[in-house]
Amino acid sequence: MTIADITREVAGALPEGMYIGGEFVEATGGQRIETIDPGTGRSFADFPAGRTEDVDRAVVGSRRALGGPWRQVTPAQRGAILSRAAALIRRDAQRLSLIETLDSGKPLAESRGDIETAAAYFAYYAGIADKLQGDTIPLGPDYISMTLHEPVGVTAHVIPWNFPLVTTARGVAPALAAGNTAVVKPATQTPLTAMALGPLLREAGLPDGVYNVVTGRGSDIGDALTGHPGVDHVTFTGSVPTGIGVMKTAADRVSSVTLELGGKSPVVVFADADLDAAVEGTLKAIYLNAGQVCSAGSRLIVERPVHAAMMERLVKRTAALRVGHGLTEPAMGPLIAAGHRRLVAGYVDDARRRGIAVVAGGREVEVEGCAGGYYYAPTILDDVPAADRVVQEEIFGPVLSVQVVDSPEEAIAAANGTPFGLCAGIYTRDVTRTLRFARDVEAGQVFINQYFAGGVATPFGGTKLSGFGREKGLAALASYIQVKCITARI
Ligand code: NAP
Ligand code: MG
Repeated sequence: MTIADITREVAGALPEGMYIGGEFVEATGGQRIETIDPGTGRSFADFPAGRTEDVDRAVVGSRRALGGPWRQVTPAQRGAILSRAAALIRRDAQRLSLIETLDSGKPLAESRGDIETAAAYFAYYAGIADKLQGDTIPLGPDYISMTLHEPVGVTAHVIPWNFPLVTTARGVAPALAAGNTAVVKPATQTPLTAMALGPLLREAGLPDGVYNVVTGRGSDIGDALTGHPGVDHVTFTGSVPTGIGVMKTAADRVSSVTLELGGKSPVVVFADADLDAAVEGTLKAIYLNAGQVCSAGSRLIVERPVHAAMMERLVKRTAALRVGHGLTEPAMGPLIAAGHRRLVAGYVDDARRRGIAVVAGGREVEVEGCAGGYYYAPTILDDVPAADRVVQEEIFGPVLSVQVVDSPEEAIAAANGTPFGLCAGIYTRDVTRTLRFARDVEAGQVFINQYFAGGVATPFGGTKLSGFGREKGLAALASYIQVKCITARI
């Protein structure tokens, strides 16, 4: 089948409405927005352009569900619903993967991985639903004191375009496990899989109104959602400026927030490292999802004795990566949008003008049969000064900047030398150096000898401008549980 055939088939069976109260509904006013396949630059579907009234409808309905049918569901039943949701996502993995690839541009293999990860979040949190229990506090013979773990209430989830279903599942699964309800606002570029999840959760037995999706532009409905008096917690994943705005809006209602923002994470390679593993790890760190990954390893910090060897291998491997439409199983797909490609290209062109060596890529790519797609070559900038813009700012594209260092002290200073603190990778065989680095690096997670090591069970989040709060693992539950302490004099 051709790309056009698959697109037609997928587009013919897409959800059309926002998912509110267990059904697909049109936006108030009936306006719609087109969603683009970044691989061709062509629109292939449209969805409702929600307005403030639609946000209100979703939040009010979600509150009603919270105090109504959802309250009647026992924790064990909640777990069973989440388990079934995982199975249904796996049942529909092929369809969901195709939708995700068309909507976001990512290679089909990556979409398959994303859909499986989304299912894994539901499976993981299914197991904790009936084990979230409080404490008893010993106060002596005259008292009994205990804590109840209550749901926070209605949780809002603002989702970015780079991992649409994964990010939705990452927030919604622990929220539901703890007995909350959810209103999701997907990114305008990639709303489809969050919409498609609605009927699957319903089929799994989730009461209507517990999971809702309001589509529409963040500039139109973002503040209405994050500042809504009926929303108790906001989980936001996206850019730093939007995250700051979300926090300010939520502050007016004293809602709690989790912010997962950008990154400029280092991959540090010491001279004693297994260079094969370091090369593989670096390629994956920067070219997964064309570098549009908050936790991408976008800076290689390498010790001078292995700089030349690393560069030789990295440049050779990078030049051999096939860039193409996500449905054709390429090594790397397109960027999300024309404007985003301009931004990425601008960073590289400016760096070149400043005299920085562009040793791989550094140009747009034409893919045969996909003339309108937003392709950009995997790119490496060598020996970049630490203060340079391409080291300091998140490019969010397939652009690796390389920094050369002469000691472990310089390496840690370089690793910590940006305003971000999301992830850090390290390649070395020296245990002491590894542990010192892991202790001293400013990051929410440290990957040793395998970049992106971990999974749904490992806590994830940032420090510095990368945000605060933790997602994934048991740590995520802290955002979705309210501790009530009850003390009785007896
Ligand atoms: P973005 O512009 O911040 O958008 C993120 C989400 O916020 C989208 O759903 C967007 O909706 C919505 N939004 C826009 N204005 C809003 C407002 N006033 N109130 C509430 N929501 C609003 O970021 P992006 O360009 O989609 O994503 C890329 C960025 O996200 C990168 O900087 C990356 O590092 C970060 N990111 C971080 C993580 C992490 O886990 N730390 C994961 C993925 C991405 P529209 O699409 O309708 O504008
Ligand atoms: Mg799209």
